[in-house]
Amino acid sequence: MTANSRSLTECSALKSGFKESSYWVGDLLPPTVLPEDPLKSVDVAIVGSGYTGLNAAIETVRGGRSTLVLDAENPGWGCSTRNGGQVSTSIKPSLEKLTARVGEQRARAIRKEGETALSWIEERILREAIHCDFNRSGRFHAAHTPRHYEYLTRDADKLSKFENIESYAVSKDNQRQELGTDAYFGGVVFPRHASLDPAKYHRGLLEAAINSGAHITGNCAVQKIEKQPDGFVLSTIKGTVKARNVIVATNGYTSGLTPWQQRRVIPIGSYVIATEPLPTDLMDALFPKNRSVSDTCKVVYYYRPSPDRKRIIFGGRVSASETDPRISAPKLYADMCRIFPELSSYQISHSWSGNVAYTFDELAHIGCHDGIHYAMGYCGSGISMASYLGMRIGQKILGKAAGKTAFDDLPFTTRPFYRGNPWFLPATVAWYRWRDKMQCNRAMNQLN
Ligand SMILES: Cc1cc2nc3c(=O)[nH]c(=O)nc-3n(C[C@H](O)[C@H](O)[C@H](O)COP(=O)(O)OP(=O)(O)OC[C@H]3O[C@@H](n4cnc5c(N)ncnc54)[C@H](O)[C@@H]3O)c2cc1C
Repeated sequence: MTANSRSLTECSALKSGFKESSYWVGDLLPPTVLPEDPLKSVDVAIVGSGYTGLNAAIETVRGGRSTLVLDAENPGWGCSTRNGGQVSTSIKPSLEKLTARVGEQRARAIRKEGETALSWIEERILREAIHCDFNRSGRFHAAHTPRHYEYLTRDADKLSKFENIESYAVSKDNQRQELGTDAYFGGVVFPRHASLDPAKYHRGLLEAAINSGAHITGNCAVQKIEKQPDGFVLSTIKGTVKARNVIVATNGYTSGLTPWQQRRVIPIGSYVIATEPLPTDLMDALFPKNRSVSDTCKVVYYYRPSPDRKRIIFGGRVSASETDPRISAPKLYADMCRIFPELSSYQISHSWSGNVAYTFDELAHIGCHDGIHYAMGYCGSGISMASYLGMRIGQKILGKAAGKTAFDDLPFTTRPFYRGNPWFLPATVAWYRWRDKMQCNRAMNQLN
């Protein structure tokens, strides 16, 4: 028995039959049988079959361009079937910070894209009749110290005054109306934010793309993309493909296939667990308004009830270096029980992880480099933005004016000596996790 498997079997947190795979894919029926081999020649070849790739494919194929989507694994293998299912606006920097960087007009336009993406994804889901438990149940962003609550309330005021974004503060005294814990010091509610079942959403997109005529081939890694006078040749493990246009939609799995993009995104593992089914009255006490939750820790925790309100889906980053879901499971469980001590008598049924893609300016990027289109770098919250920017790339390829976005032509920067291997991450994560912990402890000690 290895050390890893010992920690697995000895950990009472893990339910028998525990699965090291995404909870979301558990009940999904196998997809329609997909073509084994790629087409030999197409108008548009898309590398990556997540939200970015499929939303792009839906546009291009409906715009009359023959479209091939290739994935190194089964379609949807990446983040798009592994995420937390919390749908937000996906823009991290504040209006103030962005204004300092790009001027007020551009900053406002970028921030507005986040709101547009949030509205647009709902329209997409409704129009395509995708049954994915989309629910505008709102998000509670919880403060891990009183000081962070002050920042949040100040930000909420600014959001409504300067950006007309709906949000409101909830003090620690009223917190249990939102979330059944005393571990936080109040927070802010974003009522427009939503939740969905990420794998069902992905499956709906896959079916929409196939039904529209896109050719999708899984288990077909692209190994090389060569520029030709009239387009590109892609070498794959199943032969070559000629394509007039290429879209790279690989986000946290961007590799040496596209070194320019690889130097600009930072892959970071994020880890999630699902609890076993919990009693209804407990779920009602912990999540009285069915909110999704995130917190102000620098190494953020994000969690929510499952769509059937039976389980908690709890995510975060619990180790400095990348690790195995078997190792992250008991650590995430311990952190979850710190927030909800009631959960220590229940177990967890699933644990999994996936790679998000950060960027050096904390913004998503869309563009075209050396003739290759790309959209990536959603910084951990890409359900709406990956979908929206995927759709916009599709429009760009069709030559539609609507394809223009406020992100166009933003410098996509890298750092000297960075080649795609985030060697600096373990030390950075360890420092931030230590600081978060100290801040939480100090705030709690001051209460007692
Ligand atoms: C654990 C976790 C939790 C998250 N939680 C949230 C959340 O709650 N809310 C939110 O908004 N976002 C969340 N995200 C982020 C969100 O899931 C992503 O931003 C989004 O899914 C990105 O979609 P994508 O299509 O760009 O990339 P992906 O879905 O990752 O797809 C990329 C695909 O590219 C393929 N690929 C790579 N290289 C090649 C190659 N050479 N040839 C062929 N195929 C290749 C991969 O196999 C992969 O399937 C989370 C992510 C993770 C990992």
